[in-house]
Amino acid sequence: MIIETNSFDPIGTNAYFVANEVSREAFIVDAPLGSYNWAKELMEKHSCILKGVLLTHGHWDHILDAHLFAQDKITLMGHSNDRLLFEHPELMSSFSIPDLELKGFTINNWLDNITSIDVAGIKILLFEVPGHCPGSMLFYLASESIAFVGDAIFKDGVGRCDLPGGDFTELEKSIKSKIYTLPNETKLYAGHGMATSVLREKNNNPFVRL
Ligand SMILES: [Zn+2]
Ligand SMILES: [Zn+2]
Repeated sequence: MIIETNSFDPIGTNAYFVANEVSREAFIVDAPLGSYNWAKELMEKHSCILKGVLLTHGHWDHILDAHLFAQDKITLMGHSNDRLLFEHPELMSSFSIPDLELKGFTINNWLDNITSIDVAGIKILLFEVPGHCPGSMLFYLASESIAFVGDAIFKDGVGRCDLPGGDFTELEKSIKSKIYTLPNETKLYAGHGMATSVLREKNNNPFVRL
């Protein structure tokens, strides 16, 4: 499996490109500003077809390029608790960057109430991790011991809970029951900043202690 990471403007939001070398298919996790062109370059570099975009949650910085993938009929996937944010991101303009155009799009596959999906020939286990955002999702690739955690947890941090729909008690519960219960060696790829691991955060995270 090929995994490529990049951090995007305007607030350092990560996107991940995950490719299956056997099937020559790929998916990306999150669609920040600039990720559309980046994904196209990687498709060329790795001779892969993009099969889907998995969205960890509906916050504006993670979905700015989603409408471009939608134009190409790439399957967009997310949780329906963030439906309003996906379809009407302009509702977030008061806490985004002035003059940034926020364009809505339609989710093709809702990830609610299913435990796993197969994208690009890769099995992805789905966990709901609300608290930072009501529709926050975690994507766990058990065969690779990696998880894409969005803004639920960061290296030495957790997602902010002061935005609409945020709730620290809920976030703490999500982290303890869905993230700290993954195998210790699981690498955590977050929506911002460096990757970390379950063990490292269990031992060092200053906000959520076991
Ligand atoms: Zn967020
Ligand atoms: Zn974010």
